[in-house]
Amino acid sequence: MSPSNKDLGLYVHIPFCRRRCHFCAFYLEIAKPAPMARFHSALIQEISLHRRQESLDGRALQSIYFGGGTPTSLPADQLAALLTLIRATWPTNVTAEVTVEAHPSSVTVRDLEVLADAGFNRISFGAESMADKDFVSIGRFGQVQDTATAVQAARSAGFTNINLDLMYGLPGQFLPDWIRTLESLMPLAPSHISCYALTIEEGTRLAQDIARNFFSPPDEMLQIDMESAAERFLTEAGFSRYEISNYAKPDDACRHNLLYWTGGEYLGLGPSAQSYLHGARFGNVADLEAYAACLNDNRLPITERTILSASERQRDALVFGLRLLRGVPRKAIAAAERDRQIDELIEKGLLEADHDRIQLTSLGRRYADTVAEQLF
Ligand code: SF4
Repeated sequence: MSPSNKDLGLYVHIPFCRRRCHFCAFYLEIAKPAPMARFHSALIQEISLHRRQESLDGRALQSIYFGGGTPTSLPADQLAALLTLIRATWPTNVTAEVTVEAHPSSVTVRDLEVLADAGFNRISFGAESMADKDFVSIGRFGQVQDTATAVQAARSAGFTNINLDLMYGLPGQFLPDWIRTLESLMPLAPSHISCYALTIEEGTRLAQDIARNFFSPPDEMLQIDMESAAERFLTEAGFSRYEISNYAKPDDACRHNLLYWTGGEYLGLGPSAQSYLHGARFGNVADLEAYAACLNDNRLPITERTILSASERQRDALVFGLRLLRGVPRKAIAAAERDRQIDELIEKGLLEADHDRIQLTSLGRRYADTVAEQLF
C-alpha cells in the first residue's frame, strides 16, 4: 500500500543504546537510568505541547514508528504506556502500522509480549549479520543466535510483520559469507528485510580502525556484487525489492518509510527527530539536555524550520521518489527543459522511462542521489 500526500505518520526517537556500535554515527546516549528518566518526562511534555498547539489538526495517524537508538532500552511497560498516551492524544487509524525497533540480544520474551499486547504490530530487529566474527569487527554486542531466538519469541508473542536489518561489506566479509547470512535467515521467515551497504562515517571507531590499518575500507565492487546477490537471492525467496535497500513479502512494505519516500507528512518526537508538516521541514535539537531543558520551559525543542518552496518540494519528490523501484510519475519532472537531461541519463544507462513513469536502472540505483540532482 502506498500513502498519498495526505497520509500522516508519527516517529518517536528513543536515543539510547547499551553501547555504541563501531560504525554508528547517529546521535545517541548510553542507556542509564537518570537520562532515560529525564527523556521519558520530556517526551510526555513534548506530546502534551503538540496536543495543545494542535500540531496535527485532528488528522488520524496511519503509522507510528518507535526508532532509535534502541527503543527497547526503555522498559517495555514504559513503551506500552507511551503508545497508549499517543493513541489517546491523536486519532489513530484502526489499521495503522505500529513499529518498534529492537535489539535481538537485549529484548526479553516478556518485553515482546508486553509490546504486542500494547498494540505494536510490526517489529524491526537489528540483526546485521549471521556470522559472529562480524559482530566483533563492528563492535556489536550479543551473538548471532540471539536473532533466531528473538524472532521466534516475537512470533510467539503475536508479531507477524517482522523486519530484519542487515549490513553488507563488513570488514573481512566476502560474498559467500553474505550469502550464508541470507540463507540462515530464511528459516526465520521474516516478512521484510533491509540490506544496507556499510559506509564509513567520520569520527566513528570503525573509521579509526581503518585509519590504523586494522581493517580495509569497504570494497565498492564487492558491495555491488553483494547487492546484486541479495536481489537475486531474496527475489527467488519471494521478496520484492521495492526500494533501494528494502525487500518485502507481498503487502508487507513498510508503510511508515513509504511516507518518507512519497511526500507524506510526519511529526518526529524526541531529540534529533525530524518532521515534515504543513509544507515545512523542522528538526529537534540533537542533545538530550537541551531537549529536556526546552520542554521543561514549556517550549518545543525545535532548532530549525524550513518552509519548502514549490521547487524544493519537487526536488524532494525526485530525490526520495527515485529510491522506489516503481520510480516517479513523469509529470513529477514537468519542466520541458529536463527532457534533455532525462535522455542523457537514459543514454548513460542510469534511467529508464516510458510515457508515464521514470525509474532508475540497476546501475542508476548505485548513483541515485547524483541522478536525482542532475534531474533537478
Ligand atoms: S544499536 Fe543501532 S543506534 Fe545503537 S549504536 Fe548500534 S547501530 Fe547505532
